[in-house]
Amino acid sequence: MLFWFDRWAGDAPFTAHFPGLFAIAVEPRISIAVALIDLGKLALRRPFEPADTADWHDLLNCIALHEPDLDMGDDRTKWHLELSGLFSTKSLYQAIAPSPGPEALTTIWGIRLPLKIRIFLWQWIHDRLPSGMEVLKRNGPGDGCCPLCGPEEDSNHIFFTCVSVQYLWSCFCEIVGGSWDHNNFPALFAELQASSPSSHHISWLTIGVLAWTLWTVRNRLVIQALEAA
Ligand SMILES: [Zn+2]
Repeated sequence: MLFWFDRWAGDAPFTAHFPGLFAIAVEPRISIAVALIDLGKLALRRPFEPADTADWHDLLNCIALHEPDLDMGDDRTKWHLELSGLFSTKSLYQAIAPSPGPEALTTIWGIRLPLKIRIFLWQWIHDRLPSGMEVLKRNGPGDGCCPLCGPEEDSNHIFFTCVSVQYLWSCFCEIVGGSWDHNNFPALFAELQASSPSSHHISWLTIGVLAWTLWTVRNRLVIQALEAA
């Protein structure tokens, strides 16, 4: 299965979806398994231009939003290597990104979490998660409201202001101390960076897992609600 040529995430092969990026790919015949084990293997021949950056973000979204179907031959075996943590995405991402990213971005690429969780965190930081309101803006399904407590659902609601999440944060606060009364990502990031450097990695790891769990549970509820409607 080839990363660029086969259709495996989204409704068309990436050659068709991202012709600009494909045109500057160093290795056009890279396999899906190799590319996903190490996103940096998707090296490009020149630094990003603005249009490439937008395409790259969309490409990551595509990868994150579609469970890859690698149920065949060698690719399947290699995909499982991902679980053993054999990536060096951070350094390679930095090598292909146009400039050092925001501090938060640099931090999350260094966390030892499965790739799809890191991509999810990346989407969260960039406010690119398909929350209810985002989906509604694009004329997608649903009413844009939180499936748990009712108000308009943006990503700050999902992760900070939803009643169910506030309970989670209060537990987190009990365990690690600090105030944790933020209601947006930059505030959370600031509190984390202000804490002792030796605790950064474990804090990020915990937050990554918490946020991912919230997101997947929330997605299941949204899908159930849509199916029931
Ligand atoms: Zn809610």
